[in-house]
Parts: sequence; structure tokens; C-alpha cells
Amino acid sequence: MHIVDSIEGLRKARQALQGTVGLVPTMGYLHAGHMALVEAAKQMCDSVMATIFVNPTQFGEGEDLAIYPRDMQRDLNMLQQAGVALVFSPPPAVMYPPGFQTWVTVEEVTRANEGAHRPGHFRGVATVVAKLFNLAQADVAFFGQKDAQQVVVIRQMVRDLNIPINIQVCPIVRESDGLALSSRNVYLTGEERLAAASLNKALKHSANLYDDGERNPNRLRESIIDMLNDERLLQLDYVSLANVQTLEEIVEPTDEPLLLSLAAQVGKTRLLDNYLLPAHLNAQEGASATLGIQS
Ligand code: AMP
Repeated sequence: MHIVDSIEGLRKARQALQGTVGLVPTMGYLHAGHMALVEAAKQMCDSVMATIFVNPTQFGEGEDLAIYPRDMQRDLNMLQQAGVALVFSPPPAVMYPPGFQTWVTVEEVTRANEGAHRPGHFRGVATVVAKLFNLAQADVAFFGQKDAQQVVVIRQMVRDLNIPINIQVCPIVRESDGLALSSRNVYLTGEERLAAASLNKALKHSANLYDDGERNPNRLRESIIDMLNDERLLQLDYVSLANVQTLEEIVEPTDEPLLLSLAAQVGKTRLLDNYLLPAHLNAQEGASATLGIQS
């Protein structure tokens, strides 16, 4: 496995890769969710490239950039064992050298939900992902449904800027009690960890109502809010039931595929989770075929 941390090093190592290339961008502190992306990339592509970069421009004031968990040696071991060919782990100054002044701003689909709660977040995400796409020259890039709005934003960017890359979306990998794996889960105390599991339970409850025929968008959202009201360790940021391409909130009952998503503060930790409706869309292929606008 080649490990590079400079632009020149990456360009050289990229040229040596054989056949089709799959890119897996991460912020490191890897878990089984990341490794599922690597597995999917191995299935679909001849060579896999991973990036580890805690992108400072997608963190807001007062967020957890300084304490974001890191363990480079462990990450590299995991990627090596998984058969990754090339890892790019640049320091911030390589990605943002002095004088950097070009940003990618995706508009409508960044306005709600994560975009509303984290001003500037998607500008940082879109910019760093555009840079990684330019550097990696990959055929396919792999993202998790876990960050569903991120997928919608990136697919919009790829389409609008005619970036020649195929975006694949992998299902959410969860703990046995349903909590979505996240590098941030290590921040949770024992008590908070128990409360965090109720996020998925509430989403699932609403998804079950949908399966039983409930289509009233307010009732689907409110069933989640009602269930989480009693969790004193947990503060909901939003519950969204939205169109899978535009992320506009649904106001009328519909049978079209929908994204049911939420974010909550559990102690100092901010957690995300979501379900696609109907439920079968959460399996492999479902999210890739459904989320965001296709090029
Ligand atoms: P991060 O390192 O948190 O920026 O995540 C890197 C990639 O892994 C993103 O595409 C995430 O959506 C994806 N990812 C994170 N957690 C999970 C999970 N539990 N299941 C599937 N994909 C995930």
C-alpha cells in the first residue's frame, strides 16, 4: 500500500494504479461503516484509493475540529488489510496553501437540515470533495447513506460541474442496537450511548407507520418527536421528511420515495441518522439509485 501526503506524491502514485479506480474519502478514525465503502469499492473497481483528511473548512466555530478523534496508524493498518492500494493523507496546508481562495458553493440542496444547522459546512465539504475528485481522477467515488444530504450535495455538484465520476452510495452500518456507526460515537458517555440508540428506534417506528400505510407527513415527523421528547439526554436539531432529490420538505401525502432524517445533540455529541422510505430502499443499491440527482 502506498501512503502519500503531498500533491506530487499523489499524482505519481495515481499514475501507477491499474485499471478502474475507486475513491473512498474519509476523515479517518475508521470503523465498519468506512470499511463497507472500501469493500464496495473493491467489488466494483480494480484499484482502491482512500483519503484520510479531517477537513478544517467543513467545521464551524465552536465545533469539534480540535478534538476530532484520530488514529492514523490504526487506520492505515485497517486499510492495508482491506487491500487498499493508495492512501492520501495530506496535512491541512497541502489542501489549503497560503493564498487559497476558491470555493465550491452548492445552493438549494444545502439550505435545509445540516446546512441550516452548520453554516458553511457544505461549502467546505463541496470544496474539499471537488479537490479530491480532481486529484484522484477516480472512476467511482463511494459515500455513505449515513450522510444523506452530503450525497445529495455531491451529486448536485458532480452534475452541475460535469465532473466525470460515478457516485455510489452504501447503506448505513449500525451497532446491534441500531445506532449508526460514527467516529463521533467515542465521545458518548455510557448513559448517552444508551440514549443515542433511541434515535434509530424512533426513525424505525416512523418507518413502520409508513409501511402500515401512514402517508401524512406531519404524523410521520411527529411520531419521532413524540418518541424522543422523554429522552432527557437528547436534544433534537431537526426531523425532516423530504424529497430525495431536492430535499424540499414534504407537505402533502405522497407515495414517492422519501428521505426521513434527523440530527440530535446527545450531550456534547451531534449525531445523524436517516431512513429512506419505503424501507426496501435502505438495502444495497437502494440509496445509490434513489438519493440525489443523477448525472
Ligand atoms: P467521515 O469519515 O465521517 O467523513 O465519513 C466518511 C464516509 O463514510 C462518508 O461517506 C460517510 O457517509 C461514510 N460513513 C460514515 N459512517 C457510516 C456508517 N455508519 N455507515 C455507512 N457509511 C458511513
